Amino acid sequence: MRRQMMAIYSYLLLWLGVYLGVELSAFDPNTPHLQLFGGLFAINIVFYLMIRFGLSDRLRDPSLTVAQMVVGVAFITVILYFARELRGAMLSIYFMVMTFGVFALSRRQMVLMALFTMVCFTLLEFYDWHESPETVLFTYLFGHWLILLLELAWFVYIGGYIHNLQVRVREQRESLKDAHDRLTAIAVRDDLTGLYNRRHFLERLDEELALSDRKNTALHLAIIDLDHFKQVNDRYGHQAGDEVLRRFADIAQATLRRSDLLARYGGEEFVVLFPQSSGEECMAALERLRRQIAGQRYEFAPDLSTTFSAGLVDYRRGETAAQLGKRADMALYEAKGAGRNQVVHNS
Ligand code: GH3
Ligand code: MG
Ligand code: MG
Repeated sequence: MRRQMMAIYSYLLLWLGVYLGVELSAFDPNTPHLQLFGGLFAINIVFYLMIRFGLSDRLRDPSLTVAQMVVGVAFITVILYFARELRGAMLSIYFMVMTFGVFALSRRQMVLMALFTMVCFTLLEFYDWHESPETVLFTYLFGHWLILLLELAWFVYIGGYIHNLQVRVREQRESLKDAHDRLTAIAVRDDLTGLYNRRHFLERLDEELALSDRKNTALHLAIIDLDHFKQVNDRYGHQAGDEVLRRFADIAQATLRRSDLLARYGGEEFVVLFPQSSGEECMAALERLRRQIAGQRYEFAPDLSTTFSAGLVDYRRGETAAQLGKRADMALYEAKGAGRNQVVHNS
């Protein structure tokens, strides 16, 4: 769209130049500039509408750059026909068109576009020569032709260089974005279990509290702590402890709903935020999880079984995250005190 607008401005500028040229008799006084530019703008409006309404989206070149350049080069050739003595000086306006290609065309396409320009200009010169061989100087014809050829060759070379730079910048930007996305994904996760980490959980907790306040929906928080976990490490080693933590994470993820926010809060402590569920539903989910964990067997330690204790609380409107967390901790403490391997629910 932006290139399209730039093309239209360029043509307006060119029209101004041609109009002045005609007024000052530098151009052929019979130049039909109104018809020529009128037709050109009509074609450009068609291009504009095709891009604007997505009709060109399915084409290989949705910006229609090649089509627009072909129209531009052909049009400028017609303008040069009326430019008379100014033709040599005006050769450079071909480069207004060629410049557009630098942004979008490969080097091969640029070469083809330069060849097309040469063909148009050669045809123009032949036509002139054919029309009035006595007034046309061959040195001029050939001189202009050669200058255009050299300039186009130079432009394809420099343009290709600029194009490559642009491609490289685009690639770098994409790889930076990839790296940024990867880092963002890593930053919210816990290394060992792949669950969300404490920082991410606390951020989300604030959002969920605000959402619950605004929509007046239920919200429950559970803190889960594995029982006698130190003994697991002491008896089976730290590696085994790590594996138990990973196993817990896998089972919890499979057992809880996707809408429940599960995170590793630290060590062998996990948290779950249940949005828009009743206390009974949360209890049922935690009980299901408790049974699954208790029933889990480990191939590296056949006599090992782990359990957890959990405290569940209902969010009270207007309460801070710290107050909510403290109450959940107290419920957990009660569960530990009552003999572990159980969930205590304090509304
Ligand atoms: P309680 O039932 O009262 O919770 O007893 P506990 O042994 O689970 O509690 P305690 O807080 O005394 O011990 C927690 C242990 O968890 C101590 C620590 O070595 C272990 N731990 C914490 N993080 C990790 C970890 O990432 N990997 C492993 N293997 N162990 C961990
Ligand atoms: Mg603990
Ligand atoms: Mg523990």
